[in-house]
Amino acid sequence: MQVTARAADRSRLGQAEVSLEERPARLRVGRPGEEREHFLDWERAIDDAGQLRKCVLCGCDTLYRNRSTPRLTVIVAVLALSVVAVGLAGYVTPWVLVATLLVVAAVDVVLWLRSEWRLTCYRCRSTFRGMPIARYHRGWDARTQRRIDAADQPSPGSS
Ligand SMILES: [Zn+2]
Repeated sequence: MQVTARAADRSRLGQAEVSLEERPARLRVGRPGEEREHFLDWERAIDDAGQLRKCVLCGCDTLYRNRSTPRLTVIVAVLALSVVAVGLAGYVTPWVLVATLLVVAAVDVVLWLRSEWRLTCYRCRSTFRGMPIARYHRGWDARTQRRIDAADQPSPGSS
């Protein structure tokens, strides 16, 4: 699987390929010459079906599934807004405007369908893709995010 590793403060560490079968104890990421090793925690990280259950970087047991957004989606959105602006200024007929927006919408749907599912860690935001994803992983949820953020805050009065 392809891992985009992040530190506990969610700063990006780098990308690396990690084998789910070999389960290496360490991950080397960073710019060439500035690579650093990070320990991977495989304890109960793989379920019975051989799928990733928790984050191997920070140990958080709550991951969510989401789709990676292709960069073209942003270009398509800018293109659609440009066409609408030109249409509102009266430089194109309504039929050309509608036809262009339909093409843009179709391109956007195709891009979305071709985007890849991945798992993201609620705590450190490391992402894992290029492997089968278990059905019990749900999409991002605000209540779960608040619960995990609250658990990471130092409790008042403790020193
Ligand atoms: Zn994590």
